[in-house]
Amino acid sequence: MIGTSNDSSQDLFGLMSRLYPLCRSITGDGVRQTLKILQEYIPIEIREVATGTQVFDWTVPKEWNIRDAYIKNPEGRKIVDFQACNLHVVSYSAPIRKKVSLEILKAHCFTLPQHPQWVPYRTSYYKEDWGFCLSHQQLQELTDGDYEVFIDSSLKEGHLTYGECFLPGSTDDEILISVHVCHPSLANDNLSSMAVASSLYQQLSRLSLRYSYRFLFIPGTIGSITWLSQNESRVSRIRHGLVLACVGDAGSITYKRSRRGNAEIDRAAAQVLRDSGAEHRLTDFSPYGYDERQFCSPGFDLAVGCFMRTPHGTFPEYHTSADNLEFLRPESIADSISKCMGIFQLLEQNKTYINLNPKCEPQLGRRGLYSSIGGQTDGKIRELAMLWVLNLSDGTHNLLDIAEKAHLDFGLIHDAASNLSRHDLLKEI
Ligand code: ZN
Repeated sequence: MIGTSNDSSQDLFGLMSRLYPLCRSITGDGVRQTLKILQEYIPIEIREVATGTQVFDWTVPKEWNIRDAYIKNPEGRKIVDFQACNLHVVSYSAPIRKKVSLEILKAHCFTLPQHPQWVPYRTSYYKEDWGFCLSHQQLQELTDGDYEVFIDSSLKEGHLTYGECFLPGSTDDEILISVHVCHPSLANDNLSSMAVASSLYQQLSRLSLRYSYRFLFIPGTIGSITWLSQNESRVSRIRHGLVLACVGDAGSITYKRSRRGNAEIDRAAAQVLRDSGAEHRLTDFSPYGYDERQFCSPGFDLAVGCFMRTPHGTFPEYHTSADNLEFLRPESIADSISKCMGIFQLLEQNKTYINLNPKCEPQLGRRGLYSSIGGQTDGKIRELAMLWVLNLSDGTHNLLDIAEKAHLDFGLIHDAASNLSRHDLLKEI
């Protein structure tokens, strides 16, 4: 079921290279263009919610768009150019065109003294202001004089734009996959999760599914608040969910549990990561991070965890120009896709069975259940898996419960259940 060919990972890098230069923010044409490009890969529906719309305690903000921006030095030479790197302008900057002294310019400039070559990423969504981001080295080289600052942006009544993509399964129970699409040229922190989510849709769409899958491509915070506010009546269909973020760096996987802490998605993620044998971290829920903050707010308390590699804020490249396409690892993108597919596969297969021969153990040898496994070097462990499945299939334990109690891989437990069902010793309930 799982696999990412070189072709498809090149495809995903092609996708991310096209998305990288777009100037995304929480509203505006950058998000629209991003969703239009994603539509070439998966059938996303683009939704628009008008400025001023009340969404719980929040209001959909004015739409921000930017065409150009620069700083010219006293000699009239462009020294900072938005066209070269969209991180140079603080997101949601108000328009401005004037000459300012070096002192005033510096009060509106953001740098990273600890990484003097990198340009930081800054936003000013809810306070109308203007600002530039540049390398600390460049700031230090500026000499006294009057600088021309120019930002050709607009902050007007418009819309908040987001994308939604629904893949129906055989039941109305849904698995939610949510990614944020509000960062400009940042690769791990937003492009990686868009690419992984697109690939998950493509792979899932080729399978026969029990669950329906809902993909959201939304601006962080205000996007999930808006979606929850406008879909409150449908939220009860969400059985499990993952927020994907920072899924392309070289680090190992971090899974942050839902607020519930032991929801099926939390246990499924833990089981898949354990079974993989790869290094990983499991962390408890905290009300800080990505859109799990909204999905897990007490009024919803959805079973939504957060799937990451290196968490936000804990890698130096985070929210800087160094989070670029070179920072991504193709093998990490492929691994994130494969682990997420593993989690979905487990949820799809996590059913409850009843032992049809519960009075003492059935004779496995007579049914060929020993011989069918005899040639395999892992025969002993497969036999053990069958004994666990037979013993715990009393109608109150699903396969994940059994895998956890038996300390065995979920795949082994699932294979045992399939084998026993074929021999009429087990029935799904
Ligand atoms: Zn971020």
